[in-house]
Amino acid sequence: MPEFEFAVIGAGVFGAWLARTLHQRGRRVVLIDQYGAANTRASSGGETRILRMGYGAKEIYTRWSWRSLALYRQFYSAVDPTLLQTTGVLWLCMPDDLNAQETIRAFVRCGIPYAVLTHAEINERFPQFQIAPETWGIWEPDAAALLARRGVQTVVRETIREGLVFRQQPFGPDEKIAETHIYACGPWLPKLFPDLLADIIRPTRQEVLYFGSNAQWAAPGFPCWIDSGEGVYGIPDVENRGFKIAIDTHGPMIDPDTEPRLIAPQTVHVARRYLARRFPALQDAPLVQAEVCQYENTFNGDYLIDRHPERDSVWLLGGGSGHGYKHGPVIGEYLADALLSGSPIASMFSLASKLPYSAGTRTSTI
Ligand SMILES: Cc1cc2nc3c(=O)[nH]c(=O)nc-3n(C[C@H](O)[C@H](O)[C@H](O)COP(=O)(O)OP(=O)(O)OC[C@H]3O[C@@H](n4cnc5c(N)ncnc54)[C@H](O)[C@@H]3O)c2cc1C
Repeated sequence: MPEFEFAVIGAGVFGAWLARTLHQRGRRVVLIDQYGAANTRASSGGETRILRMGYGAKEIYTRWSWRSLALYRQFYSAVDPTLLQTTGVLWLCMPDDLNAQETIRAFVRCGIPYAVLTHAEINERFPQFQIAPETWGIWEPDAAALLARRGVQTVVRETIREGLVFRQQPFGPDEKIAETHIYACGPWLPKLFPDLLADIIRPTRQEVLYFGSNAQWAAPGFPCWIDSGEGVYGIPDVENRGFKIAIDTHGPMIDPDTEPRLIAPQTVHVARRYLARRFPALQDAPLVQAEVCQYENTFNGDYLIDRHPERDSVWLLGGGSGHGYKHGPVIGEYLADALLSGSPIASMFSLASKLPYSAGTRTSTI
């Protein structure tokens, strides 16, 4: 009999929460990561991530965000409340923003707290934004900034303290250590399973910049924000790291093992041009930090949660597509239910539902 019932390969946010959930349900679990939990190369290794409920018509993700928020609050309030900072999220919307209209309808159906803000109300509440007269907003008061790297490392550390076995080592696609293996390998999945996933999950280079700011750019006076029309989003100054801004357009394909993590000067230039328009007070602020990360995109942004088509004891979990961090706790529950009770997985997460990334038109997450 194998030593473990479940081996979870990959200690990013998906694998960490899955391993924790299985362990809490009394299963013999080993969690394995080649570089350690939420390492710098991993997609979960960044400083902060947004937890928002707004997802247009994709209501399943709205409900998952709400449930994740409760699970994060429950766990973090016991171990380290600073890992979740309730900042709210402000969506900047244009008059014909269909996605925003769908988001509001989903909020009504799901009972998610929100407010619609007029141009004047945005100006009064958050004068830091310079916006066009036709701009309006959706305000999500419960949305939050999550401390990403520290959060995953805390989940892993606490679960090890409770008895989870963790091993830092690479683990191949054909190795066996448990009855069931779940590969939660984020942007490495296409390298591990090239025949299946080479063009199904596409790791793209994404750059994040931090500009020197002050208390005026921290919550509660300044929120997380999503400028959907421009494809740009940001996070207020959390733990004095500076004003965070990211351009959401998918960058070139990368290899997560070997990609140099140095910011491109062109990105700084583009960000500064945007700052000059939207946040003029910051246009000359110094760049104080930068991160080069990657999205692991499916063609339409829906996750991959499925059994390997030829190997019954192998599962594939990934395709976070630039928005998966917030859903870690729910994905842990969802897949644990499937593994332990055979509960069905929605067809939108199946391998069969995935078109090649190169056939899709989706080039941004928001
Ligand atoms: C710039 C940026 C901004 C983002 N913003 C948001 C946001 O605001 N909100 C949000 O919800 N999400 C956001 N995301 C997306 C989110 O961070 C990812 O979807 C999520 O972190 C993916 O987690 P993961 O566990 O699938 O992968 P990862 O975190 O990459 O973890 C995979 C792990 O597998 C390990 N591994 C791989 N191969 C092997 C092997 N053979 N053996 C052992 N270990 C292996 C790796 O070392 C790694 O630690 C953002 C992502 C980026 C890059």
